[in-house]
Amino acid sequence: MAAAAASAAIPLVLVVEDEPAQREVLVYNLEAEGFRIAKAATGDEALLLTAELAPDLIVLDWMLPGVSGIEVCRRLKTRDETRGIPVVMLSARSEEVDLVRGLETGADDYVVKPYSVVELMARIRAQLRRTRPAALGQRLAFGDIVLDAEQHKVFRGDTMLRLGPTEFRLLAAFMEKPGRVWSREQLLDRVWGRDIYVDARTVDVHIGRLRKALCRDGGADPVRTVRGAGYALG
Ligand code: CA
Repeated sequence: MAAAAASAAIPLVLVVEDEPAQREVLVYNLEAEGFRIAKAATGDEALLLTAELAPDLIVLDWMLPGVSGIEVCRRLKTRDETRGIPVVMLSARSEEVDLVRGLETGADDYVVKPYSVVELMARIRAQLRRTRPAALGQRLAFGDIVLDAEQHKVFRGDTMLRLGPTEFRLLAAFMEKPGRVWSREQLLDRVWGRDIYVDARTVDVHIGRLRKALCRDGGADPVRTVRGAGYALG
């Protein structure tokens, strides 16, 4: 249970590739980067798993049996719930017209096979640095609060704050998207993980602890309670 909770803040990458050998190469390298992995071999499976798991990024092969990668991408990018998930398309096609088509469907990046694993991983990290900066070890700032994900430290002004691991992950989620209103369920998914059951009121308890830690020296409370919706930073 503790391991599942600890892993919840680690980015989840969905690998969509029908060729087993190519899929395993991707999985191997993404695991080596420290990401959590989900796998799909068809477009239908990719759409199902995206709805079920809400991955942080999708590596999507263009040529798939059934629903093509292009169509999967187009569908994901037309839905509000999935639009924000970065999609890195893989394709054996190198013609410029295909590249344009790939980007027109809303793919965030595009890599042509045979690709360099080093380059692909760099592009994946670049996308995740944009959407999951704390998970990628970036230093985040909000007002006088600084969260150093690499050193696992939080400062308010010059004071180092002592946060528990859950409060740290809560603050990291907030600081990755200042102003975003998170429902309790969304915070449970991000901070505790989907695979374990935690009562929604547990979120309130840890929000309370986070506020207490942030305001210990009399600073203003940066966490906003949004009635009927959840919580936001700022
Ligand atoms: Ca393929």
